[in-house]
Amino acid sequence: MAEPTRAPDEHAAEETETYVYLCTSCPLGCRLEGDAVDDDVIEVRGNSCKRGIKYGTQEHTDPRRAVSTTVWLHGGPCERLPVRAAEPVPKQKVREFVQALQGLVVEAPVDFGAVVVSDVAGTGIDLIATREIVSEHGRELVG
Ligand code: SF4
Repeated sequence: MAEPTRAPDEHAAEETETYVYLCTSCPLGCRLEGDAVDDDVIEVRGNSCKRGIKYGTQEHTDPRRAVSTTVWLHGGPCERLPVRAAEPVPKQKVREFVQALQGLVVEAPVDFGAVVVSDVAGTGIDLIATREIVSEHGRELVG
């Protein structure tokens, strides 16, 4: 299913760039082909649903990545706390985002979904816990 995001004729006289991305919004992994003039996406093809249009447009204009990792935990029943970015991180900021977490130690207890770092690396994106941890001698609750 192809659905133009803008009438192709509007840019007929301008230089059109064609790009290809693999949609990762679901396991089907559609091969998206898009046309753009500068950062203005004028058409996305190859998508099997509307999410592909959004993905193909954003991947060209503002690519982002989900970030999940673990950080050190102190005072809990295990050494590492699983965490993730509260929202997808701009692709060009992912390395900086992850590097900012090096050496981070979180004190137990930790609630599931608790913000453990605000505005990581100035991205405006928080880091949140993806597991609930009780104190050192308590029971660990899997979130
Ligand atoms: S376009 Fe739709 S069906 Fe295809 S991979 Fe993306 S989300 Fe899945």
